[in-house]
Amino acid sequence: MAIKRDYYEVLGVGRNATAEELKRAYRKLALQYHPDRNNGDPQAEARFKEINEAYEVLSDQSKRQRYDTFGHAGTQGMPGYDFGGAGFGGINDIFDMFFGTAAAGRTRTGPRRGADLRLDLRLSFEESVRGVERELTIPRAEACESCQGTGAEAGTSPQTCPQCRGAGQVRRATQSIFGQIVNVASCPRCNGEGKVIERPCRTCGGSGHRPGEKKVRVNIPAGVDSGSQIRLTGEGEVGPRGGAAGDLYIVIQVKPHPVLKRNGTDIVYELPLSVAQAALGDTVEIPTVDGPERIEIPPGTQYGKLLRIHGRGIPHLRSGRRGDQVVYVRVVIPTNLTEEQKQALHQLGGVSGKPQHIEKGFFDRFKQVIGFD
Ligand SMILES: [Zn+2]
Ligand SMILES: [Zn+2]
Repeated sequence: MAIKRDYYEVLGVGRNATAEELKRAYRKLALQYHPDRNNGDPQAEARFKEINEAYEVLSDQSKRQRYDTFGHAGTQGMPGYDFGGAGFGGINDIFDMFFGTAAAGRTRTGPRRGADLRLDLRLSFEESVRGVERELTIPRAEACESCQGTGAEAGTSPQTCPQCRGAGQVRRATQSIFGQIVNVASCPRCNGEGKVIERPCRTCGGSGHRPGEKKVRVNIPAGVDSGSQIRLTGEGEVGPRGGAAGDLYIVIQVKPHPVLKRNGTDIVYELPLSVAQAALGDTVEIPTVDGPERIEIPPGTQYGKLLRIHGRGIPHLRSGRRGDQVVYVRVVIPTNLTEEQKQALHQLGGVSGKPQHIEKGFFDRFKQVIGFD
C-alpha cells in the first residue's frame, strides 16, 4: 500500500505553521513546479498536484484540524456505513503490514527516518460510539542497547565517510559535447548517511536496531467510523542508526451491530410491530447504545413511520454533539392465522375489494429509509 506524503512535509513547513507561512511556502513551490515552467515534465506535474492538494487541505481551518487528528483519512469525508467487515482477527492478530514512507526523489543526508507503521484496530459498534482507551502492543524495531542505535561496536563510533567526507553525496563531473555535466548521486560507500561503521556492533550486526515491541496507550475518540485513521507521531519504527522515528497510523474497523445501523451521526433501528400494536398503540422496549429504552407507539401508527429519539445517536467527531436514534416502524403482517383470528380481522372490516387509504408522505419516507437495507 502506497502512503501519501505528509501534507506539511509536502509544503516543507512545520506543524505549527501560520496561515501566512503556509501561503508563502505554497506560492514558492507552486511557482517552482508549475507545469508551464517545466515543459510539461510529468514529475513536476505530479509534485504540482501534490502541492495543491496539500495547500487546499491545510489552508482550510476545519480540514486542517481533521487532517491533524486523523491524517489523510480525515480529509476524505466519512466513509458510508461499511458493514462488509474485513475479517480481522483478535487484537494480537491485527498487526497488518509495514509500509515505507521513503518519498521518491528525496535526497537527504544523515540518518534516515524510520518507517511508518499501520495497525488495524477492530472496535465494537458501542466502542466506536462511546470512544475507548486501548493499550496496543506494536511489534516494531527498537534501538539496539549495546550500541545505542549507532550500529558501531561498543567503544567505537561511526566515522565520517572518507569517500564523501560526510556529505552523503558524491559529484562527478563529465565533459560532453554539450559542456560539463555534474552528476550528483547518493554516496555508494555510506548510502548517503555520511558516516561509515568500521566495526559493526556484534549485537545488532550494525543495523542499530533489534526486533522488539512497544506498548502504546491510545484514546480512540467517540464517533469514529470504519476507515478513520489516528496518527501517533513518532510511534513508528525507529530510524536506522539513530534516525527519527516514523509515525504510527491506527486504522479503525467497526464491527457491524446485529440490529443498529449507522447513518452519518444517526443510528437507525428497524422496529417490527404486529398489526394490533400498530393499530392500538403500545409501549415497547427497543435497544439503544445506551441500553434498552421504552418508547410509546401511538395508536394508528403506519408502516414506515419514523420516530426519533433525540441525542441517542453517534457523537460528531469535532463538536461531540450526538445525532438521533431513528426508529423505523415495520408492521409485520401475520401469515398463519387461526380461524378465530381470521374472524376478528373480518370484523375489523376493510375486506371491500377497494384499495385502502395510505397516509400521505409514506412513499417519501419509505424511499428515505430503503437505503438503509
Ligand atoms: Zn547494536
Ligand atoms: Zn559517503
